[in-house]
Amino acid sequence: MTAPDFSAKNNFIREMVAADVESGRYGRGVATRFPPEPNGFLHIGHAKSICLNFGIANEFGGRCNLRFDDTNPFTEDIKYVNAIKEDVQWLGFTWAEERYASDYFEQLYEFAERLVTNGKAYVDSASEEAIRAGRGTVTSAGTDSPNRARSPEENLDLLRRMKAGEFADGAHVLRAKIDMAHPNMIMRDPLLLRIRKATHYRRGDAWCIYPLYDFAHGLSDALEGITHSLCTLEFKDSNDIYKWLVHEMGFVNPPEQTEFARLELDYTIVSKRKLLRLVNENHVKGWDDPRMPTIAGLRRRGVRPEAIRAFADTIGVARKPARTELATFEHAVRDDLNMEVPRVLCVVKPIKVTLTNYPEGQVEELDASYFPHDVPKTGTRKVPFSRELWVDRDDFMETPSKKFYRLAPGREVRLRYAYFITCTEVVKNEAGEIVELLCTYDPATRGGDSPDGRKVQGTIHWVSAARALDCELRMYDRLFTAADPEAGGDEADFISVLNPESLVVVSGAKIEPSVGADAVGSRYQFERTGYFVSDPDSKPGSLVFNRTVTLRDSWAKVAAKG
Ligand code: ATP
Ligand code: MG
Repeated sequence: MTAPDFSAKNNFIREMVAADVESGRYGRGVATRFPPEPNGFLHIGHAKSICLNFGIANEFGGRCNLRFDDTNPFTEDIKYVNAIKEDVQWLGFTWAEERYASDYFEQLYEFAERLVTNGKAYVDSASEEAIRAGRGTVTSAGTDSPNRARSPEENLDLLRRMKAGEFADGAHVLRAKIDMAHPNMIMRDPLLLRIRKATHYRRGDAWCIYPLYDFAHGLSDALEGITHSLCTLEFKDSNDIYKWLVHEMGFVNPPEQTEFARLELDYTIVSKRKLLRLVNENHVKGWDDPRMPTIAGLRRRGVRPEAIRAFADTIGVARKPARTELATFEHAVRDDLNMEVPRVLCVVKPIKVTLTNYPEGQVEELDASYFPHDVPKTGTRKVPFSRELWVDRDDFMETPSKKFYRLAPGREVRLRYAYFITCTEVVKNEAGEIVELLCTYDPATRGGDSPDGRKVQGTIHWVSAARALDCELRMYDRLFTAADPEAGGDEADFISVLNPESLVVVSGAKIEPSVGADAVGSRYQFERTGYFVSDPDSKPGSLVFNRTVTLRDSWAKVAAKG
């Protein structure tokens, strides 16, 4: 197992595991697992669970399995298995073993026969509605199903015929025989197996009875020799049936389940099922749409695995649910990219500058550094400089406001890495729109400093019009306008709070030529603009970049103003 630069910060789970290791409680090494159902792509919430499970195993010299909890033939697919494996690896983790709950169907069936023989399970032939009604409510006990009194022989016969495919879906179910008045509703004779005449993506048509999550999960853990079964709070009520099953099946030092609070990130959805709806209904362009909180989406967005691991470390692991601000995540992303990625020049909204005193046809190659002084990386490149340049339209004001220190008529500014220039004339078209700025440059200021000590207040970025490359910028923003798009629970109408401006495409941006030959997936800071990554849609001559994150939290500014 490897977890390159990740160690879980102290939290109640780590303390518990440390104590168990100390006391030798399980009589075997620490074993955890990450158990996704392959019904969708992994998301940022899973990253929290992955970092925890792999981090704990790594720290205590144990092992962590990747187990696919694939017990539902209707929803699962090999494409999700493959995506999940790719994402866990990309996050930097290596599993001890790759396991599948569907490989345990035979074993689980044997457990079922054993429960029946021991009088601990029965076949119920009541309808789904009748079973639900018989469960009672949180304040009133349930009632025994008339089939509860069936003999083990009769149950065994029915169970075998269920397996043999003699009955239609829903005709019978296998239920544990526990306590119809149990304070935990799940313990009121929970369903263990049901008939589903469906083809499983791995097991094909080998089975027509399928285990329910609660039946499969704990026993799968036990079969793998897991010690600490870590899961999120929605499984809290399942802890009793988990214990009951591993006890009934006679496991010695069985695994134990501990719940922690799931990651709930503002303006984000963390549920595969709900994300699937966004994909299926084309609200996004697929699982790896850079607006998606999926690992694949974040990767395409330009986020590095290091940032995701650092984020997991920052938020920690707690018992109580709490929401995490999006700013916390973005901070982790910026922090990571700031120290890693080269700076380049890209003009988002170009306006032409002509340097009237610069020789026509001349091109100079100026030295520019990829990293500012306080970043521990080095590297330089040449940027071409010529008579015609592009600067950003927003860096010019014809009648500058008080705090505007950039280009304006008569005003001198520094072009980053290049020269001081002074705006001498504004050229307009017939409609009165500014189409070009005529400027002069001071040859003595090459490199960006004036030998006479003259100061300028503004420094702006630019690219050579003769040599710039055209590019498309995809500016991403939060996908939802509501802080908690899942507020309504499973029935939440999160579609109605989609942010219509989650993607703004800017075409006709101009970028320096040094990036032209870089590989897809290259990351940059576009100086003064934001962090960007080149997208797989890029082609030579038409580059596409995704904005990973802005340089600063632009929403904080909006909130402060409002
Ligand atoms: P679904 O919507 O299909 O239930 P899910 O997103 O809840 O999907 P699961 O396959 O149910 O994902 O979960 C796999 C594992 O990841 C479980 O152990 C679960 O506890 C954990 N997990 C899921 N969501 C989160 C989250 N938001 N934060 C931390 N862990 C999570
Ligand atoms: Mg789930």
